[in-house]
Amino acid sequence: MGAGRPDPVISVRDLRMTYGTQEVLAGIDLDVHPGEVVCLLGPNGAGKTTTIEILEGFRLPSAGQVQVLGEDPARAGDAWRARVGVVLQSWRDHARWTPRMLLTSLGGYFLPYSTPERPRPYGVDELLETVGLIEHADRKIGTLSGGQRRRLDVAVGIIGRPELLFLDEPTAGFDPQARRDFHDLVHRLSDLEGTSILLTTHDLAEAEKLADRILILTNGRIVADGSAEELTRQVAGTAEVRWALGRERFVHPTDDVVPFVRRLLEQHGDALTDLEVRKASLEDTYLAMVQRFEAGARTAPALQEVVP
Ligand code: ADP
Repeated sequence: MGAGRPDPVISVRDLRMTYGTQEVLAGIDLDVHPGEVVCLLGPNGAGKTTTIEILEGFRLPSAGQVQVLGEDPARAGDAWRARVGVVLQSWRDHARWTPRMLLTSLGGYFLPYSTPERPRPYGVDELLETVGLIEHADRKIGTLSGGQRRRLDVAVGIIGRPELLFLDEPTAGFDPQARRDFHDLVHRLSDLEGTSILLTTHDLAEAEKLADRILILTNGRIVADGSAEELTRQVAGTAEVRWALGRERFVHPTDDVVPFVRRLLEQHGDALTDLEVRKASLEDTYLAMVQRFEAGARTAPALQEVVP
């Protein structure tokens, strides 16, 4: 690449995946840039896990070009794997080990890949502190609660101080405190360590909070790519104004709230009651986009499509 932007950490062109006769990915293009936190959204069965597993090198695609940290994940070796973090669903093995033993042992694999810029692995105590497990460091893994095990899953995923981290529904089953702690951790990894992160979630508030960029995958294609704000702007009517005149109630989606409300007040004055303005949320946008694209349309959806 010339001057300007560094090479993307993930670069995918025309990625296709077919299981038997079922086409799950119908030609996906995506780039993730260094330090970005990108969230992949989509309904169940959209192909999010398939995409992530291909990028992790755990699944072979049917067709397309995939480059992750400059290599094809299907052929990459140990040095590449040491730079990539994967958080798997719940660590069930080694029930008699303690978190400290497990992390010390796994951390040893990363030592040969340590560099001055990126010392590997993390210090075990520092990591246990970071994921909120320091008080349970010496308990048997088999006796940890579900939430504590998920914290351990995260610690296992990042012990090698990855440059790129994959998180497939990382907060499923977290209580609100664990979720909040996890969000802080993602921000820290991204801001302080420059870690690039690709995550999936069904929690749209989480996506809005964490992601620099959101991709919506549906019907085997990426149908939207942008910040939460950019996506919301693509949906016609970024806010909804509700009001009442006597016993009659009205709803109107609009992009220009202030002039619209001013006109309403000028027109109806004191007769106007119950005035309410609601900004479109990422959830409205997401539902409008998925409904529209699942119906096969390719034009911008409107907010009123999702307003009951
Ligand atoms: P998501 O993570 O978005 O819920 P998945 O990638 O898990 O989607 O699955 C996408 C589709 O591919 C689903 O219809 C699923 O049943 C199918 N699928 C996933 N893995 C396999 C497999 N190993 N063999 C056959 N079909 C699969």
